[in-house]
Amino acid sequence: MSNEPIGPDAVLEKKKRHLIPCVYHFYADPPQIVRGEGVHVYDTQGRGYLDLYSGVSVHALGHCHPEVADAICRQVRTLQHTTTIYLTEPIVNLAEALASVLPGQIGRTFFCASGSEANEGAALLAALHTGRSEFLAFQNGLHGRTKLAMSLTGLAFWRTDPDPVGGITLVPHPTCSACPVGRTFGSCSYECVQAVENAINTSTSGRPAAMFVEPIQGNGGICVAPPEYFPRLRELLDRYDMLLIADEVQTGFGRTGRMFAMDHWSVAPDIVTGGKALGGGTPIGFFATTDEIAASYTRPGASTFGGNPVTAVAGLAMLRVLQRDRMVDRAEHLGQWLRQRLDAVGDRFECVREVRGLGLMLGMELDPVDDRTAAELTDAVLERMKDAGYLLGKTGPGRNVLTWMPPLIITEGELQGAIDALENVLETI
Ligand code: PMP
Repeated sequence: MSNEPIGPDAVLEKKKRHLIPCVYHFYADPPQIVRGEGVHVYDTQGRGYLDLYSGVSVHALGHCHPEVADAICRQVRTLQHTTTIYLTEPIVNLAEALASVLPGQIGRTFFCASGSEANEGAALLAALHTGRSEFLAFQNGLHGRTKLAMSLTGLAFWRTDPDPVGGITLVPHPTCSACPVGRTFGSCSYECVQAVENAINTSTSGRPAAMFVEPIQGNGGICVAPPEYFPRLRELLDRYDMLLIADEVQTGFGRTGRMFAMDHWSVAPDIVTGGKALGGGTPIGFFATTDEIAASYTRPGASTFGGNPVTAVAGLAMLRVLQRDRMVDRAEHLGQWLRQRLDAVGDRFECVREVRGLGLMLGMELDPVDDRTAAELTDAVLERMKDAGYLLGKTGPGRNVLTWMPPLIITEGELQGAIDALENVLETI
């Protein structure tokens, strides 16, 4: 068989014929990506694109990081797979490494193969530990594609299931610029936290097991809660003996300028779920908790590929490099720098409604312009940026938030090139 790429038209043709149509893609004129190196991906014409979305917050260290790739290749040639019914070392080493970075007293991990599975597992663990079965989650949140994870998701775009699981109450997310309770930050009394208590008392039995939160909403459009929200929420959940489950699938491992985004508010969740960046490009997911809560889950649990030697050594290499090269600090500083520049772009262009986020997880929400909806404008910007060699993301319930989640290894110079290109696109569009 030839190794020559078949090209985007042929890929699209096969995709149309053989993939389930729900597998959608960005761009009216999409390139076929054939190679990745550092902050760039390359298409069949050898054209490079600066990857500003990192495969949706996966490539913290960039594409094909040599130390991660070497660890994977060595392991693939030594022992790929046995599953957890046999003893292997990488899984326990990765759990030990995670325990040293996870917040609070969280030091026990169950590994699986995706973020959706991680959230399913976290819900099971919370139900086992509390003996309760109802859950709270945020409107505009996203927790995955499986039945329960989709039912916990508060975005119609990703909530395809017409018959979601019951016992789940979605509460408003406290995005101050669109305050769900009509207050103004600075003169409010965190009525958004009161709204959660009201929901517990009106829409549940009064005894839910837990609340799922994304510390910063990713697919919801990069929405950040106000400073005291999570400490106050923690106090509220404690009063109701509810667990706090932090879905750090997108925000974990330095993305927001802290190892875990919950660290911004010094709030320790009871359960943390993760995936994406940890695997260095290999499929991974996990939920982690305290000794006390873990003790409630003793019946056999197994994930065929969870913590398999290849993903585990990839995770170990990724964590080693992330810490050695001080990538979390880098995300914080570069993020502040990028934020200032994006704010300046926002000041220049009327179509930019708001810039928000933390670290290298930033969103730029667009407004409608003339006869174009905000979503149409976002698509047009995305396409033009791609043609100029820059791959941005797109999130938000209105699909109108340009999303910046570049590899943490990116430089100011590379980001400046992207900002210049964006200004060009916004000037001409
Ligand atoms: N939680 C969050 C916050 C996510 O962003 C995602 C995926 N975008 C998931 C869960 C689901 O992860 P996966 O696609 O690996 O199942």
